[in-house]
Amino acid sequence: MSIPKHHPDPAMLVEFSAGTLGTAQSICVAAHLHFCEHCRNEVLRLDQIGSQLLSQSEPETVDSNLFDSVMSKIDELPEEQEIKFDKEDLRFPLPVAKLFNKAEVVPEWKKMSSSVDVAQLVTGQSDYEVALHKICAGGKTPKHSHSGKEYTVVLEGSFSDESSVYSEGDFILRKEGDEHQPMGAQNGECICLSALEAPIKLSSPFGFLMKPWLRLNPM
Ligand SMILES: [Zn+2]
Repeated sequence: MSIPKHHPDPAMLVEFSAGTLGTAQSICVAAHLHFCEHCRNEVLRLDQIGSQLLSQSEPETVDSNLFDSVMSKIDELPEEQEIKFDKEDLRFPLPVAKLFNKAEVVPEWKKMSSSVDVAQLVTGQSDYEVALHKICAGGKTPKHSHSGKEYTVVLEGSFSDESSVYSEGDFILRKEGDEHQPMGAQNGECICLSALEAPIKLSSPFGFLMKPWLRLNPM
């Protein structure tokens, strides 16, 4: 396993440790942590600081109505299915495997373009479209710009764009206005986890052909 070169920014790790990061971003950070010892250690350190702060703070009195309303919200949540994964045998990091909600972690690929397949994942939130993308060896994706944030974590293989080569575990954040054209590595297919904030705009004049496939509804 190579050592990731691209990491979530420190503020994201702080939020991840504090449990205040959104679901989709947390899934991406957790997938990165699977590959990145450096960030795992950083989260451990933050967790320790957090628990020290908690133990130093004065216990607060909580309104009993607030407590009841929180408990009723928890009761309303659907019961989580306990699936036994064979961790030795898992193709994807556990936080990603869990999204399949079944023991067989086999993506249901759908063609997005001649070189990209997509398998959407159900995450119980609608702020981000979370999916796996598979770029075939040497495959070019359409040049596109982003109208919102996109988090990407490379799970298998590697891809490149105008600015860098990204390998297993690399964590990439694209922001509004960023334009790029990812390309799969020549030596094999590349599978990425991605969380997309808003539908992306294609720069190509033929972009309209792609649009229906880019809009995913994970809910
Ligand atoms: Zn890292």
